[in-house]
Amino acid sequence: MGLLDGKVALVTGGGSGIGRVTAEVFAREGAHVAVADWNEASAQETVASIEAEGFEALSIAADVSDEDSVRQMVDAVVDRFGALHCASNNAALGGGFHATHELDRERWDRCLAVSLTGVWLCLKYEVPAMLDAGGGSIVNISSVSGIRGQVTQAAYAASKGGVIALTKTAAAEYATRGIRVNSVAPGGIETPGMASYLEAFPEIRESTEAVHAMRRFGRPDEIADAVTYLCSDRSSFVTGQILGVEGGIQVNAHDA
Ligand code: NAP
Repeated sequence: MGLLDGKVALVTGGGSGIGRVTAEVFAREGAHVAVADWNEASAQETVASIEAEGFEALSIAADVSDEDSVRQMVDAVVDRFGALHCASNNAALGGGFHATHELDRERWDRCLAVSLTGVWLCLKYEVPAMLDAGGGSIVNISSVSGIRGQVTQAAYAASKGGVIALTKTAAAEYATRGIRVNSVAPGGIETPGMASYLEAFPEIRESTEAVHAMRRFGRPDEIADAVTYLCSDRSSFVTGQILGVEGGIQVNAHDA
């Protein structure tokens, strides 16, 4: 018995990192999985890896900052699998590394468009599909940055703070209609996205590790397992929660 047996699950940003591993774990737990990414080739690679394990998945090219694209994404899931029960709204874009007063408007707008408006657009089209299905569970991926702030990442931190507020709002709105909405807030996780950051700033690896009480980065599967729990019926009385999966960043007494 898998945790998601018989459920239809969608992952945005499923072509890489946390999204890819989440899609793989969803499939192993029995879900029919739709993998959406604006990079179609990377979504197809995730699907190929799921199919190689003997499971079924659908790849969808979708840009979460584009409303038509999001509507078509959700329609494609329902057309193929007949319903939508679970979604991990995971796609996001950083805003670069700039002091707040040096951040330009274009970067701010683009980061917010993908990382905050993109999550809202996903909710806008996922919720009706889940109401049609008789209920569901949505997990928005935020970040510890959205709780604590993040030096030189004002746009990204603000977008993730917005995702947290959006999660709590939607959780309250749909709680009596069978849809639970939660968020996972990762700490530093070893993904291709993080790798490109560490390539650009190798000197911050050690200090970033030290921010975590556990003195290490997390792995994508450690996030995927939390998302899977929140999507499954094991968390049936959990809604509106922000689950930190962050190696103890928020309790780290040695955080410099
Ligand atoms: P990642 O490796 O960069 O993967 C993100 C995926 O989303 C990529 O395939 C990316 O495509 C895609 N994407 C970006 N914009 C999109 C859009 N508009 N529409 C559809 N797909 C889009 O990222 P990750 O590190 O796994 O992060 C996943 C989530 O966890 C994000 O919400 C991130 O903010 C959050 N998070 C990560 C960490 C960490 O340390 N890794 C920490 C806290 C929170 P391209 O690569 O082509 O842009």
